[in-house]
Amino acid sequence: MRKIQMVDLQGQYEFIKEKVNNSITEVLESAAFINGPEVQNFQKELEAYLDVKHVIPCANGTDALQIAMMGLDLKPGDEVITVDFTFAATVEVIALLQLTPVLVDVEPDTFNIDIDALKKAITPKTKAIVPVHLFGQCPNMEAIMEIADEHNLYVIEDNAQGIGADYTFKNGKKQKSGTIGHVGATSFFPSKNLGCYGDGGAIFTNDDKLAHTLRGIVNHGMYERYHHDVVGVNSRLDSIQAAVLRAKLPLLDSYNQKRREAAIKYTAALKDTNHIITPYLNAPCGKDGICDTCNCHVFHQYTLRITNGKRDELVKFLNENGIPCGVYYPIPLHKQKAYQDERYNEADFEVTNRLVKEVISLPMHTELDDEQIIFITNKIKEFIN
Ligand SMILES: *Cc1c(COP(=O)(O)O)cnc(C)c1O
Repeated sequence: MRKIQMVDLQGQYEFIKEKVNNSITEVLESAAFINGPEVQNFQKELEAYLDVKHVIPCANGTDALQIAMMGLDLKPGDEVITVDFTFAATVEVIALLQLTPVLVDVEPDTFNIDIDALKKAITPKTKAIVPVHLFGQCPNMEAIMEIADEHNLYVIEDNAQGIGADYTFKNGKKQKSGTIGHVGATSFFPSKNLGCYGDGGAIFTNDDKLAHTLRGIVNHGMYERYHHDVVGVNSRLDSIQAAVLRAKLPLLDSYNQKRREAAIKYTAALKDTNHIITPYLNAPCGKDGICDTCNCHVFHQYTLRITNGKRDELVKFLNENGIPCGVYYPIPLHKQKAYQDERYNEADFEVTNRLVKEVISLPMHTELDDEQIIFITNKIKEFIN
């Protein structure tokens, strides 16, 4: 059996080596390292893939979120609602821009924003909502957009973990994650579903005016060379990363399909095991947990809940058996030193407080084979029983 890895970037590279090496060589020979044709071509190809009017490439996913917020008319002290259970980058940029983060709890099944908690958190100062498509699945975007409409709020999708996922509306209409809100942000960090070989990110929007604003912000607030109209940043996707992304974008759907197939096998093996809750799919087909047709979940992570209090022991047992695994995330954001605040009430974070003790993410990547999945799931069952 091949050594099991949490992500297998080498294995994936083997299949695209020639294509990637050739396009990197072309960039080196052209010396168009910044904003070269590779970046512009990637932008157009991603716009077509997502069916969104504007993609604004930038340096990483955290910048993408920050720039998205800089492009909206938000003022210091404005409240921005997001989840307690996400990677810190989501809340970090809110705080950096001197906006007030308002953390809310998530749902125990999807791990995504709890709609009732979101409604309760809205005040006259609320200006935006940042839903996070955690582990590869959208929250209830339809409800979020309705709430945003009603209260006149911006929706900024943190799509760093969800690229390629479809969200299905009640009327059957499908839209790519990250293109539903006013603006979406994603990351091309190497281990993300669409990863480059360094840092990279992008912002998506269908709003022409906002897109124009954002294109200036990523480049020092310049709309005309050496005319700085707004305070901007330096956040560009470099041409080498764009070349890698252009080689991988046509494979994104097949990559996501491989992740889904691995998830289906994990779930089939583990669904009837005591003390284990397998991932819930908010699938339009209604097939909870085992669905190979809906593209509603792209499994950035395959995350179990271990409900007998032995999650940490399981992590240790798996590691001892050569199986890496992850705990995303071990501490609720409202308990992090940087983000704790007197405003928060423990009773409002019941689910996140529980999830941080229960979740475990199994190896998930495009190169997992059946032998590895059987080995991993057998070891988990051996430990639980
Ligand atoms: C990875 C990630 C980010 C940040 O992306 P970087 O490219 O690493 O800056 C933001 N939000 C979420 C949910 C992420 O998983």
